[in-house]
Amino acid sequence: ETVYLNGDWLPAEAAKVSVFDRGFLFADGIYEVVTVYAGQLFLLDRHLQRLNRSLSALGIANRSDSEWQQLFEQAIQKNAIADGFIYLQVTRGADTKRSHLPATMLTPTVFISATHIQLPTELPEPVRVCVMDDIRWLRCDIKSISLLGNILLKQQAVAMGGMEPLLHRAGRVTEGASCNYFIVKNGRLITPPKDELILPGITRDWLVELARDNGIEVHEEAFDLDALYAADECFLTSSSREIQPVGWLDEHMVADGRPGAMTRQLADLFRANAPIAAAK
Ligand code: PLP
Repeated sequence: ETVYLNGDWLPAEAAKVSVFDRGFLFADGIYEVVTVYAGQLFLLDRHLQRLNRSLSALGIANRSDSEWQQLFEQAIQKNAIADGFIYLQVTRGADTKRSHLPATMLTPTVFISATHIQLPTELPEPVRVCVMDDIRWLRCDIKSISLLGNILLKQQAVAMGGMEPLLHRAGRVTEGASCNYFIVKNGRLITPPKDELILPGITRDWLVELARDNGIEVHEEAFDLDALYAADECFLTSSSREIQPVGWLDEHMVADGRPGAMTRQLADLFRANAPIAAAK
């Protein structure tokens, strides 16, 4: 595996960062994950926009979109990736003074890898998710590498026999540890609004637009646990999982536990409109 680190391409084992890196010491950094279908970067512009948002939230200087695109394409080529993903991490850089207040003239640490994955080829079987209290901070809209809350929640969900947590704050549904959620009620598609309580998922946004373009009524609005349990359908989205039907909320079965009609329609639309359709 060939990775990019601070201007160099090198074998993954040879890529080393300073112990003074603020990413290592403080998780002072951000990341992006872009799906690659048939060697093509999927929804790159949207990922670069979110990257820009994350970097500006931290006050780290950005590069041009074309520079990122070139680096990502090189990573795909050097690793001969057909289906997979690009991982990009930018930290504030190394600072020998371990101070919460960063020095002003640090050089950001930039790391890029390209990894092959088996992307779903059809709608996966419904999974169980665990409804849990969202214990994370209040800036979940930043794609921060500080993921301890997400990790603890994911561990607990898996220990309880779920695939993913479904988080709520005082009864208001937010998102998962690494995904967004949708419910369907009476033919309407509902997903929490983009605010500081959720990561603005690229898959989420794209699906909302795809649904609207195809005449589906979409509501980006807060809903509570009562609405969740009363839902006709439920699914989660992320770049790597695309659309994943949810069959159980803990012990509560969603409808008959099978993927609903709207979930299947959206999965078909996804397949017809993502470049994966051309690849397979
Ligand atoms: N929410 C969180 C907390 C995530 O970490 C992710 C992705 O990893 C998502 C949502 C889904 O975002 P995307 O569709 O851009 O992959």
